[in-house]
Amino acid sequence: MKIGFIGLGNMGAPMAANLAKTHDVVGFDTVAVPEGLTLADNAADAATDADVVITMLPNGDILRAVAFDIHAVMKAGAVHLDCSTVDVESARAVATQAKAAGLQAVDAPVSGGIGGATNGTLTFMAGGTADAFGIVQPLFDIMGQKAVHCGDAGNGQAAKICNNMILGVTMIATSEAFVLADKLGLDRQAMFDVVSTSSGYSWSMNAYCPAPGIGPQSPADNDYQPGFAAELMLKDLNLSQMAAEAADADTPMGHAARDLYAQFVENEDGIGKDFSAMLPRFEKRTRG
Ligand code: NAD
Repeated sequence: MKIGFIGLGNMGAPMAANLAKTHDVVGFDTVAVPEGLTLADNAADAATDADVVITMLPNGDILRAVAFDIHAVMKAGAVHLDCSTVDVESARAVATQAKAAGLQAVDAPVSGGIGGATNGTLTFMAGGTADAFGIVQPLFDIMGQKAVHCGDAGNGQAAKICNNMILGVTMIATSEAFVLADKLGLDRQAMFDVVSTSSGYSWSMNAYCPAPGIGPQSPADNDYQPGFAAELMLKDLNLSQMAAEAADADTPMGHAARDLYAQFVENEDGIGKDFSAMLPRFEKRTRG
């Protein structure tokens, strides 16, 4: 397959490098110049002649601008596969525009972070037609270990923000429970041993424990270097609240998680730290 890859940042560059082992990949980024990839001078050049154009960009506004540039030059029937995390509305607008241009579109945000992008172990949650999903499935198999077809355009983004809303809420709940346990004199290892095998278990506790030296290796064991940065969690929680407002869904826990991560990132020292650094944040605080 001929693949155009636009947005070669922390995630895009290793994803493109994995595809380039078996496919003809032409990349473009306005800033990044990763080694070992064939690069075009602009997004349209990377997209011309491609069977699939992948975008991995910071937000919905940039995605819409890039989509406007590339849809005009992509060949008929080609697929625009967007793997960025963006708002549901932008994903659906880009899919509508692609259809009008005689193209197919799949929104497939990822879970798994930079490690998953590098090791080809990402999870993709995809929205789009079954036909378009089938065309890009072999690429998901190279870049990841699992791809779930979630339904029509935008449903990949919907799945991603619902998943990450749960993740933000459970990380806060796990962190505040550890601090309560500390204050009640409960040993952290005992707390982990009970909760990880009881009804309070979650991915945040079992696979990504925010307490250093407890549970499997996680960013807590590396001074909270991300991992998944707190500011990216805030981005996803903001997207979930935008979607909840648009859909008139009552999401009080997601709302509270957004506010706490906003406080942590914007007013405290959360920027540049893993999102599990919520635990040392709570440690410093008292109830008042
Ligand atoms: P990044 O900022 O490292 O990469 C984005 C790249 O897009 C940058 O290199 C930037 O120069 C480029 N870019 C911006 N505007 C452009 C344009 N008009 N044309 C071409 N290139 C342009 O971000 P990232 O960490 O690689 O994340 C990419 C996406 O993946 C985001 O939507 C993010 O939310 C999502 N995501 C990131 C992670 C993570 O752990 N980093 C995990 C899951 C999902």
